[in-house]
Amino acid sequence: MTARRTLAGNWKMNLGLGEAQALYRGVADGAKGYPATRILIFPPFTALASLAQARRDGDPPIGAQNCHFETSGAFTGEVSAEQAKDSGAEYVLVGHSERRRLFCENDLLTRQKLTAAWRASLTPILCIGETMVERSRRETRDILSRQIRRALEGANPRAPLLVAYEPVWAIGTGVVATTDEVAEAHGWVREELNAAGRDAAGGGTPVLYGGSVDAKNAGPLAQVPDVDGFLVGGASLKAATFLAIAGALEASEPRSSAAN
Ligand code: PEP
Repeated sequence: MTARRTLAGNWKMNLGLGEAQALYRGVADGAKGYPATRILIFPPFTALASLAQARRDGDPPIGAQNCHFETSGAFTGEVSAEQAKDSGAEYVLVGHSERRRLFCENDLLTRQKLTAAWRASLTPILCIGETMVERSRRETRDILSRQIRRALEGANPRAPLLVAYEPVWAIGTGVVATTDEVAEAHGWVREELNAAGRDAAGGGTPVLYGGSVDAKNAGPLAQVPDVDGFLVGGASLKAATFLAIAGALEASEPRSSAAN
């Protein structure tokens, strides 16, 4: 059987409630045309519960863009993994580069959030990636290895997980990594995951690419070995563009055994 690939849309801090509802319905209706793709939507918290309540059978699962690592308590402005789950989330983004860069989240905090996600029965997407300075110093492999090792230290290798390789310099910039750069990085990520016991025998861990993916560049990227799908920001804000990326995924053969 062909492995299912994943297309995750990160709406970031965009869209009012009505806009989010309309976009979700457009994506959900269109998604029926792409049954071989697991489509996931990460709306802002303000829309999460409403979308989850309106969700019909077969509509894309919904995820939170972030969570706090404690269950509850005096953490003004924060949302726990349990609260996200209670509001209808099934997934959560952890360690997104905007969280790391703009909100000073480090590898330890990322690990705590992963633990919280599993505690709340959410499936996390662990986001990792190097900055342009790190790439130019040829540190990409070390950075990816460190981010994965520290995030997964002590974790059950069978706990559900997706990883998104997102070079920081490609996120929201319109600069997309080349297919060679993506292939090389995904190979390193796969090696590190295998070393952590997350090979196919351990349940597998799909590895997504993220960073300025759009309807035009998705085709070649979808053919890169070990690309199990995409995490998309800007291009997920229009149903037609986002679904065209699903089309590109379905038009090319998956090359990894890890997608599930
Ligand atoms: C992201 O937010 O994870 C992302 C990849 O954004 P963009 O597609 O806009 O680069």
